[in-house]
Amino acid sequence: MKNRCVFCDILAGHIPAEIVYQNDDVIAFKDIHPRAPVHVLVIPKEHIPTLNDLSDSHKSLIGELFLAATTVAKLTGIDQTGYRTVFNCHKDAGQEVYHIHLHVLGGRKMSWPPG
Ligand code: AMP
Ligand code: ZN
Repeated sequence: MKNRCVFCDILAGHIPAEIVYQNDDVIAFKDIHPRAPVHVLVIPKEHIPTLNDLSDSHKSLIGELFLAATTVAKLTGIDQTGYRTVFNCHKDAGQEVYHIHLHVLGGRKMSWPPG
């Protein structure tokens, strides 16, 4: 998909970001408005607007996103204390950026269910 977005601009280097980890398929950077002491976003390098746009061809990419989240958790020191991974899809879930991103949140105790 060719649509551009703020995360595509980060990928292109047009907007700065604090990159925590990346490989050929995904990149992880710090959220600009952190909701926890650790708040990192893991995104695919491919522009995919929502979870609904995933298809069978993305199966391995989905695995890469979660494996990158576990790497981020280790790199940021929250893998043993605990962390939450979240994809928001569409407006009721509060999706603001339409390029899928896996939130990795940790470093504090979190409540359940989410608000
Ligand atoms: P969501 O509400 O799930 O779409 O989450 C979008 C997230 O992207 C929010 O937590 C924002 O703070 C974050 N965000 C938006 N713009 C940037 C940016 N330029 N750099 C880093 N994080 C951003
Ligand atoms: Zn994008």
